[in-house]
Amino acid sequence: MNKNLPDLPTVRGTLTAHRALADLTWMRVGGPAEVLFQPADLDDLAAFLAALDPAVPVFPMGVGSNLIVRDGGIPGVVIRLGRGFNAISVEEGSTVAGAAALDAHVARKAADAGFDLTFLRTIPGTVGGAVCMNAGCYGTYVADVLQSVTVVLRDGTVAELERDSLNLAYRSSQLPDGAVIVAARFVAPKADPEALKARMEDQLCKRDETQPTKDRTAGSTFRNPAGFSSTGRADDVHDLKAWKVIDNTGMRGATKGGAVMNTKHSNFLTNAGGATAADLEDLGEEVRKKVYDSQGIELQWEIMRVGVRKDEDTAK
Ligand SMILES: Cc1cc2nc3c(=O)[nH]c(=O)nc-3n(C[C@H](O)[C@H](O)[C@H](O)COP(=O)(O)OP(=O)(O)OC[C@H]3O[C@@H](n4cnc5c(N)ncnc54)[C@H](O)[C@@H]3O)c2cc1C
Repeated sequence: MNKNLPDLPTVRGTLTAHRALADLTWMRVGGPAEVLFQPADLDDLAAFLAALDPAVPVFPMGVGSNLIVRDGGIPGVVIRLGRGFNAISVEEGSTVAGAAALDAHVARKAADAGFDLTFLRTIPGTVGGAVCMNAGCYGTYVADVLQSVTVVLRDGTVAELERDSLNLAYRSSQLPDGAVIVAARFVAPKADPEALKARMEDQLCKRDETQPTKDRTAGSTFRNPAGFSSTGRADDVHDLKAWKVIDNTGMRGATKGGAVMNTKHSNFLTNAGGATAADLEDLGEEVRKKVYDSQGIELQWEIMRVGVRKDEDTAK
């Protein structure tokens, strides 16, 4: 990573050089941001991006619940939204949430007003991350309830984007390059608040029973692979479970350094203590190889790996 920082515009928020990112992620691993920017508010963010050299890469992050930040860190500017971006309001049937609002808070506030965004209750990220990843569970995805997002584009322009322009698909979206989501508007079905609260309690219990919710993970490591049944017919496609193919390869509980394929749920790559990002990524790659070699199935990462590996960080 470059020791000479890029020329940076003056801001009202906070700019921190070489800010460690590990403590800002669920996995607790990884190197620093070359620069971390925490804007004070929308105007601060827009003015910063308008004045920033277009050659400097920007990476918006939420609370890092779907990320492995590599050990060499993230070059350029990492943008993390905070208090100026976490308001939640429910008005005329729409729930409008700032991108830094936690999904769980949005679900609870919507439920209080009688709107069903319960699927967000057990997803441990922010609204920005949820839209970017088209997060979902229990049969509902962001795409089902999102109406529009407000973004700041890389050149500092503030724009309103309708859901359909984001091409939301399984755990993915197509945001304009360098765009930062600052708010999202959801339209959710009406329901009885008490029933919604009971459902959320139920979902939390289910999660704790089946997933390592207290461990350092980033959720499901690999997508569930689509496959063909033994007939091999094109119309005879079924879904396989990633945890099952990992188990079939005997990789439940496999370790590398401080990384482990969780014994409670084998599709949860876990920092069991002292893992590096390389331990985690390399263990994931070993699982992918063994699954492919033994079952011919190509697992695809669901966790995003971002930044540079330590051995690639040659400019230090
Ligand atoms: C225990 C556990 C359980 C999980 N269960 C689920 C689940 O059931 N369903 C599910 O879908 N996911 C699940 N996840 C994964 C994760 O919580 C989601 O993907 C979540 O939406 C990520 O949000 P985040 O704010 O942490 O984003 P981050 O992990 O910080 O970032 C993820 C992506 O979003 C982008 N991003 C974040 N904020 C912005 C922004 N403001 N503007 C533009 N881009 C942005 C980042 O650039 C990155 O590409 C789970 C994770 C854990 C740890």
